[in-house]
Amino acid sequence: MARYTEALCRICRRESEKLFLKGERCYTEKCSVERRKYPPGQHGQGRGKLSDYGIQLREKQKTRKSYGLVERQFRNYFREAERQRGATGEVLLQLLEQRLDNVVFRMGFAVNRREARQLIAHGHFRVNGRSLNIPSYLAKIGDIVEVKETSRDIPGIADSISKIEHRGLPAWVEVDSSNFKGRISNIPSREDMHLPVQEQLIVELYSK
Ligand code: SF4
Repeated sequence: MARYTEALCRICRRESEKLFLKGERCYTEKCSVERRKYPPGQHGQGRGKLSDYGIQLREKQKTRKSYGLVERQFRNYFREAERQRGATGEVLLQLLEQRLDNVVFRMGFAVNRREARQLIAHGHFRVNGRSLNIPSYLAKIGDIVEVKETSRDIPGIADSISKIEHRGLPAWVEVDSSNFKGRISNIPSREDMHLPVQEQLIVELYSK
């Protein structure tokens, strides 16, 4: 399985924007974007004005890396979004939000998507009562996601649940954290996603 493994804070610094990829640290003054507001690397402070293409590319890269995907995976989601009814950019974001690793993260069972992906791959979750270890599974309305009984003592899961108030829960999930369980109540609307992304720029980039 292809995985995106760049250091998370480096992704934010390249975009000069807080993308909240790490968890607790993102809400403290230790955040790398707060401390160094310029892109990483030797020439990070000398970056000039971006072209239109550069702006579109950065928007796509920001979105792709936020969800921890490699280019091929991201493009496949875009193709699928084009096939579906609705505005392609919004459908693309909806598909990304429906990934099980994102759902586990949004429900507060993991501090970030990367950790969620690892917990899922290690078999710590059930969906609709059945063990599921596929982070790319697309959750549907009515799906019940739960932490297995034998996994509820894992420090990362308990710790993440205890800190969910920092992030808040999106309107499209219902979570019963005392029973380590959540339900997809809706397909996320664009307003529910709170993503600092201009998805139209991604559509323009891939339409060239
Ligand atoms: Fe991004 Fe969080 Fe790292 Fe700040 S602490 S740079 S928001 S991942």
